[in-house]
Order: sequence, then structure tokens, then C-alpha cells
Amino acid sequence: MNILIKDVLVLPMMASGREETLFRGCVGISDNRIEMVGHDDQEADRFRREHAGSLCEIDGRGKLLMPGFINIHNHVAMTLMRSYADDMPLMPWLTEKIWPFEAKEQPDDVRLGAELGIAEMLLGGTTTFVDMYWMQSSVAEAVCRSGIRAVLSPCFVDNRFEEFERDLMTVMDTYVGNCDGRIGVMIAPHAPYTCSSEHLSRALELSRRYDIGINIHVAETESEIETIAQRYGKSPVVYLRDLGIFERPAIAVHTVYLNDEDVAILKQYGVSVAHNPQSNMKISSGIAPVVRLLREGINVGIGTDGPCSNNDLDMWEEMRSASFLQKVATGDPCVLPAYEVLKMATVNGAKAIGMEGQLGEIAEGRLADVILIDICKPHLCPQHDLIANLVYCGKSSDVDTVIVNGRVVVEQGQLLTLDTKTLCRDIQTRVEEMLRRH
Ligand SMILES: [Zn+2]
Repeated sequence: MNILIKDVLVLPMMASGREETLFRGCVGISDNRIEMVGHDDQEADRFRREHAGSLCEIDGRGKLLMPGFINIHNHVAMTLMRSYADDMPLMPWLTEKIWPFEAKEQPDDVRLGAELGIAEMLLGGTTTFVDMYWMQSSVAEAVCRSGIRAVLSPCFVDNRFEEFERDLMTVMDTYVGNCDGRIGVMIAPHAPYTCSSEHLSRALELSRRYDIGINIHVAETESEIETIAQRYGKSPVVYLRDLGIFERPAIAVHTVYLNDEDVAILKQYGVSVAHNPQSNMKISSGIAPVVRLLREGINVGIGTDGPCSNNDLDMWEEMRSASFLQKVATGDPCVLPAYEVLKMATVNGAKAIGMEGQLGEIAEGRLADVILIDICKPHLCPQHDLIANLVYCGKSSDVDTVIVNGRVVVEQGQLLTLDTKTLCRDIQTRVEEMLRRH
């Protein structure tokens, strides 16, 4: 399939800088790659001639084209528990509500929950997500069917390690390399306080053996800092460093409570951070030192976290919250300006999943994960600074078209790959049935 998007405002988000922030031009997609990024009609005409006979043309007038968002931390199937447990502290939330509910989950529940969350993400312009959960092979089914791209991270706590090993093998053997190459894999120990040193070391060994990265919640709450200090006499970051976890490509999720040594370790080992501002606010975890991490040169991307600690999967809201929260925390309205937050949601996300130069940018040769935003909306006008409008006023409902891996999956705001009405009806029936299970 070849696609020509003509007469469109292009926001390329190149990692190299802001040299050419926004220009009017055209983008040509061939198979699953961006083949042409042009500035004038002649380049569009040339692409049209070269692909005559098998070309879909999209009129980009009134639209802005940019890379799809990369949500680097999610537990997508937790849509099943959206609004099931709110306004509670983290540990009772986990032990009294979340974990007992999860004990009832079957693979088909997880698949259905994942489809619902993926539908929400695609409609809002997210084209890649990193998931951390049980039964990732069921999430893989939803990823294949929906057309989204994902890095799936089978998760474990101590009493679910054998199940995790089986899930990891299934994801790697059955899905990675299939589904048009849209599925990658990482290993996800849940957290330093829920995984023993022995299991963390075994996970590290698997990470080395299969050459895949590690994705773990770290330093999320003050109580975690106290627990790890009591058990091991060190901070969670130092503890994981001493085990060797950061010798692998890694995403440290949350990192709300960091001391100077912790920051130096993240920098030294090139660990990426997943910042989840709305989850951190909702669970009263605290405020991650994002400005400081970025100034140290640490790669920070954005995640929504799961949909029962947020409670949605909306990267627009997450970007806005990230910026506002840092302005509040530092007392400085100049920090985390709009363009830097957009980079976190695109370029930095690509780097965190080892796909720098492949995703997160609009340039020739990149994978064709592209979104078109309808900018003719009252809340996006006037356009003194369109990038500021995107970050401070943009909404999921502004997303008109979503292309993943060269395939149109959302057209004029409608999802083509899944039936959202049926999904909404089925999920309600399913959770009511789950709550009756013993
Ligand atoms: Zn999480």
C-alpha cells in the first residue's frame, strides 16, 4: 500500500533539534516506511507518478502531520478495573482491590481489556505502547488484531514467576517476528519490593540470554524507599544497580524519589525513565524530578500507567500534566516547554524502547507511524504558536487519521480495525461476570 498525504503542515520532531519545526509539505508512505518527505507539489507529483495505480491520497489541508505518540508505560488490560478502585493509597489499593480482582482474570478477559485500551489509544493518536502485565500473549492477540505497535513486557511478582517464564516464551516464540513486526518484548519484574533478589537475578539472566531489555517500577513511593532501606540498607536504584539490572537496556518507571547517587547511576548506565504524571498525582506518590533528569541528559519518556491509576490512556492529557506539574514543582514557569514535552512523547519514547531513528520522527526511511491532527478546532485557534496549542489545548478528539506501520487504522476519527460499540458492550458484561467469579 502506498499513501500520499499532500498539502499538510508537517511537524517532524527530529531528535537532532528544532531547526525545522514546522513546514507545509507532503509525505509519501510506501509499504511500512516513510519514503518521501517533500516541501513542494513537484515532490508530491513525482511520488504520485512512481506509485501510480496503487496510491491512496489524503488531503492534508487543515491538518497537522506528526509522529504517533509512544506511551512507554501501561498496563493496558487494567481497563477491566477502570473506576473499580479509586481514591485509595497504593498498598491497600493493590492488596485489597487490584490483586484480588486480578486473581479472577482469565486470558480472554485480558485480551478483551487490551482491545478496549488499544481502541482508546489509537483513537487518541498513540501508535506504540509499552505494556507491563500478566498474560502478555493475550495482549499480543489484541495488538495483532488492532494494528497498533507494542513492546510487551511479561511481568512477575514472586508467586507468579513460573507463569511469567511461560508467558515470555509464548510471546517470543509466537508473536515477535510475526504481526508485521509490530511486537517487541521486554522483561518486567514488577518492583524491587515485590520481587526477591533471587527472582530479579533469574530475570536478569533471561534478559541476557535472549538479549532483551528490562522494564521495572522503581522508587515510586516513600514507603518503597523505607521498605528497601530496611531490607537491604540501600535505595531501590542502588539495589538494582548492585544486582546488575542496569547493565541491560532498561526503563525505570516512576523514579519519584531519587537521591544524588541514584541520578548519577541512571545517567551512568543510560537508563531511560518513564514519567507518569497523572498516576503519580492520583496515587499521591509525589513528583518525579523530571527537569533535573533531563538536564542531566537522562532520557525521559511519558507513560499513562494503567487505566485504574489515571484513569485514561490519553497522551495529550499526560503531556499537559507533565509540563504543568514541573512548573508547579520548580516554581519556574519556563521549565518543560511545549516542544520538549512533545519530544518526550515521541522521540524520547522511541529511544527508551531502542527504536531511536526508527520511530518518533517524520523522516525518510522511518517506520510509517503517523498521525493527522485536525487543527481547525475552536480550542486550537488562533495559532500564534501551534506547538503550544497542541500541548496546552490539544485533545484526543482532534486526531483525525492514524497510520501504523503504513496501514490506516483510524480514518476521520473512526477506528477501522475494532468495533468500539461492541467492545464497550462486551466489556461491561464481562466485568459483571468476573465479579461474580470466585
Ligand atoms: Zn505501572
